Amino acid sequence: MNLDLSTLHWNGRTVALTLRDGLIGAITPVVGPARAVIMPLPVDPHVHLDKTFTIGRARADKPGLFGAIEAIAADVLRWSADDIRNRAGLALAEARNNGIRALRSHVDWGQPEAPLAWSVLSELAQDWQSILHLQRAALVPLDLLGDAELGPAIAARVAKDNAVLGCFIYANADLDAKLARVFALAEHRGLLLDFHVD
Ligand SMILES: [Zn+2]
Repeated sequence: MNLDLSTLHWNGRTVALTLRDGLIGAITPVVGPARAVIMPLPVDPHVHLDKTFTIGRARADKPGLFGAIEAIAADVLRWSADDIRNRAGLALAEARNNGIRALRSHVDWGQPEAPLAWSVLSELAQDWQSILHLQRAALVPLDLLGDAELGPAIAARVAKDNAVLGCFIYANADLDAKLARVFALAEHRGLLLDFHVD
C-alpha cells in the first residue's frame, strides 16, 4: 500500500510523519491543509469470544435477553476447547482484518471454578500477542461473585491471570451487600471492574 504521510491531520495540526522500522520515527509540523487524518487503531472493549459465531446453531425461541441466555445455555454443551478455539480464532482474524488493535472479551463464568473458555482464550491471547492485545474479563453472576465464601477464590484466580473482574447484575436480592463485596474484592486485589447491568 502506498501511503502519503506528508500532510496529515493530527491533534488539530497538519503534520508529516516519518516512519522508522514500522513505527513513527518523527512528527514534523507542515504549513497548509491536511489531506488525510491519522488516528490510533481502534479498541473493541466489549466482545464475547466464548459465544462468538454461535448464531447459526443457537437459535432463540423467544426474543430478548432471556431468550438469548436460554439459547446459549443449550449451545454450551458443544463448547469443547477446539470449538471455542475455532470460533474465537475466526473472530480474532476478523478483528485484525478490520484494524482492531485490542479487545476486551467477557467470558461467562457460572461456577466457582474457571470455565474452559477462560484458559482457551488465554492460549489465544498468547498466540495473537504480536498482532493484537486480548484482555479477558470474568463475567460472573453477582450472586456468585458477591458470595462471601465463593467470591474471593474467583477474584484470586482473576488476579493471578492479570485479567478483569466483572459480573452480571440482574434484579439480585441483597444487591447492595453483594456489590460492596465485589468492590472490596477488586480493591483488595487491585483489579479493574467491568459490570453487565441489564
Ligand atoms: Zn456483553
